This record gives sequence, C-alpha cells and structure tokens, in this order.
Amino acid sequence: MSQAQIIDGKLLALEIEGHIAKEVEEFKTKIGFAPGLAVVRVGNDEASKVYVRNKELACKRVGFHSEHHHVPETISENDLLKIIQALNKDSKIHGILVQLPLPKHISESKVIDTIIPEKDADGFHPMNMGNLLIGKPGTLPCTPYGVIKMLESTGVSLEGKDAVVVGRSNIVGKPAALLLLQKSMTVTIAHSKTKNLAEVVGRSDVVIAAVGKAKMISGEWIKPGAIVIDVGINRLPDGKLSGDVDFEEAKKRAAFITPVPGGVGPMTIAMLLQNTLECAQKYYKL
Ligand code: NDP
Repeated sequence: MSQAQIIDGKLLALEIEGHIAKEVEEFKTKIGFAPGLAVVRVGNDEASKVYVRNKELACKRVGFHSEHHHVPETISENDLLKIIQALNKDSKIHGILVQLPLPKHISESKVIDTIIPEKDADGFHPMNMGNLLIGKPGTLPCTPYGVIKMLESTGVSLEGKDAVVVGRSNIVGKPAALLLLQKSMTVTIAHSKTKNLAEVVGRSDVVIAAVGKAKMISGEWIKPGAIVIDVGINRLPDGKLSGDVDFEEAKKRAAFITPVPGGVGPMTIAMLLQNTLECAQKYYKL
C-alpha cells in the first residue's frame, strides 16, 4: 500500500531560518544592529516556558537580538500593558510577542490591542487580522502562515480544490481559512457544532486540523490523495505528543501529511522569525 509523503516541518523550518539568517546579515550591514524580538511571559506555565525557550533558541540561530521579559503570575493588567508600551517605543525591538495563555485577571484582547500593529510579531492585532480579511499586506498569524508554506512545499496546485479547516479559533482556524481562500480554494470551516464531520472531511482535498483533541480525525475519513496538515498538539496519557489526526491510519490514504511533533510546530517558530524580520525591514523601509 502506498504511503503519504511526510511534510517535514523541521527541515522546512531550517531552510527558512537559513534564508532569514542571510537577511539578518544584510540588515546588520545596512542598519548596524540586528532585528530584535521581545517575548513577554507571564507566570510559570510549563508549556509556555518550553515554547518561549524554543523561540529564544531560534532567535539565536538566525542572529536576532532577543529579550525575554518574564513577569510573575500576579502582575496587574496595567503593569503588563506598561511593559508592552515601553517595548512599543524601544528602538532595539521590532517584534513583540506575549506568550498566551494569560492569567484570568488579564484581558488577552487588551494585551493584543496594546502591541502596535507594526511590532505585532504574532499577527494577532485586529489591524493585521483585518488586513488579512481584505487581502491587504500585513503581518500574518504565524501558525496559519506556516500551514500555507507547508502546503506550498508540496508543489500541488491548490486552486479550485476543496479544503476543510477543522477549528475556528482566531489564532489558527479562521486565519488559516482566509489564507486558503486567498489561494482560491473552496473552503469549509468546521467546528464543534458541525454535523457529519466525517463526510465534510471525506470530500476535502486539503484538511487542516486545529482542534486540540488527540486523533479525533479518523484516518478512514481522509479522501485518498488528500493533503493533511495537523496543527493539533495533544499530550497522550503515556506522555507522548499526538496531533488531531490519526496519523498512522491517515498516512495510508493521504498523498502528503505532517507529523506531530516535527510538523507545524517548528514552522510556527520559523514564521515568527520571518514576521519579526519583515517588521524590522518595513520599519527601516528596506
Ligand atoms: P481552540 O481551543 O481555541 O479551538 C479549537 C477549535 O476546535 C474550536 O473552534 C472548536 O469549535 C473546535 N472543536 C472542538 N471540538 C470539536 C469537534 N469535536 N469537532 C469539530 N471541531 C471541534 O484551539 P486553537 O485553535 O488555539 O488550537 C488548536 C490546536 O492547535 C491545539 O491542539 C493547540 O495546542 C494547537 N496549536 C498548535 C500550534 C503549533 O504551533 N503547532 C499553534 C497553536 C495551536 P467551537 O468553536 O465550536 O468550540
């Protein structure tokens, strides 16, 4: 039985980092210092700690200036907003990211709105989201941006094909669907109230899974020859990571599939670096 080709997110991310590192050298020659990314982390959430560490390491690999602002869980919303406002004015910093989730007493949307759109490395600011909706240039949310790069890497023509995005969050599902629409695909957005998900997935040439439930998309649902991009990251009882798709079964039917780990995760970080570089280049009109 033929097996799907694996879209190797680690390898693709390394290639993108290689391009970014070259651009950083050129930037430094022209401007005199490196693009800078500030990551703000609130509290001691273990997963956030790992994500931020990975982002810092990636910054080092491409030669960025990086700052990690770690503040206690008890910080007031106002004090957090003041840190962001100071970073907005800091000339060494071109991209700002506040690691989510935040403690309950802090409004995520206030925090996102406070980062100026020009330094919004995550692409979550309403201005950048609005630009995405109407097809104007802006900063794209990192994960959906990575998803598109992975689709492009297959070399398969997407125009006119059927796609389903399972999940409608503001940070993954909705922007991913908009980017697929920009690729002239016919896009369905599925969510927890969708009826007959198996049938919707079964007629889709491209499946983007962004739910957060291990293996909830059965391999048997996948249309033979489909491209499957699995955004989900779920911890199994044995400690291993799993995506939202039953990878072992799905790869028997799909033409291309992303693994978890080693798929969308590394690409999200690569696109964060890309966004920061682009923010810095735009600031200096390079
Ligand atoms: P959210 O929890 O914000 O959204 C989940 C979505 O899944 C919701 O729209 C929900 O529908 C939908 N959903 C829930 N149950 C079902 C169901 N049974 N059938 C169909 N749809 C369902 O999650 P995120 O978008 O933030 O993240 C999704 C996954 O991606 C998570 O595992 C997360 O860890 C991972 N992730 C990975 C990243 C990476 O870099 N690889 C980056 C970001 C996220 P409804 O709206 O109706 O509730």
